[in-house]
Amino acid sequence: MRQVTVLGSCGAFPEPGRACSGFAVDWDGYRLVLDLGYATLPRLLRHWPDGAVDAVVITHEHPDHCIDLHGLFRMRLYGQPGGARLPLFCPPGVLDRLGGLEPDVDLHAVFDLHPLPGSYRVGPFDLTGLSLPHFVPNAGIRIEADGIALAYSGDTGPTPVLAELGRGVDLFIVEATDYDGETSRPTRNLLTSTEAGRWARRAGARRLMLTHFWPGNDRKAAVAAAQVEFDGAVLAAEEGLTLMLGTPDSG
Ligand SMILES: [Zn+2]
Repeated sequence: MRQVTVLGSCGAFPEPGRACSGFAVDWDGYRLVLDLGYATLPRLLRHWPDGAVDAVVITHEHPDHCIDLHGLFRMRLYGQPGGARLPLFCPPGVLDRLGGLEPDVDLHAVFDLHPLPGSYRVGPFDLTGLSLPHFVPNAGIRIEADGIALAYSGDTGPTPVLAELGRGVDLFIVEATDYDGETSRPTRNLLTSTEAGRWARRAGARRLMLTHFWPGNDRKAAVAAAQVEFDGAVLAAEEGLTLMLGTPDSG
């Protein structure tokens, strides 16, 4: 089984019944998590009831992408003491933030830290984290196995690195914050859905999944805007949505 399941689709803070950024990747029994924002951990535990995870990747230190890593930390520390350390791939600021919540505990007792950006072999995957422009260091993530690739932007402004990150991927998960006034800012740290479509086209991605919707935004309008730029399938991330990976008819 090779699939990705959306744990959360909101940017900044969650809408009622939703969660912030998070994705669960199943690959022939290997379990990889991409981001763990607000309210994603209960959804992760619904998806994998035993809570077992093989590796976690966090794009950046903002809490809408990493706060539930703290819950997972407590689960490992108190619920499964003495277990193997969990491989964690993230920019260094992520553990600094978690350390503020747990100043008396050594986070390295639970996490086996691998800094991003960088390239690693992670279970079945070649994983690459590329630096993308945001308010804090953000690593766009590309994972690839058996010639099938998935990429995820985290939070980013427009940059040619997005075309490199998503080059020929089966599924490109791109943030579409559509924050008011974003395109007139002198320094760009977030994308519009139109730009998400444009960079998916430049990357030559097969499918585009928009995510990180600003609470209250019209998601159908975001998909329509991206479709103007991108000819492939455009989906809106939705809590609980599962997409098969590497199967051409999976939409
Ligand atoms: Zn965010």
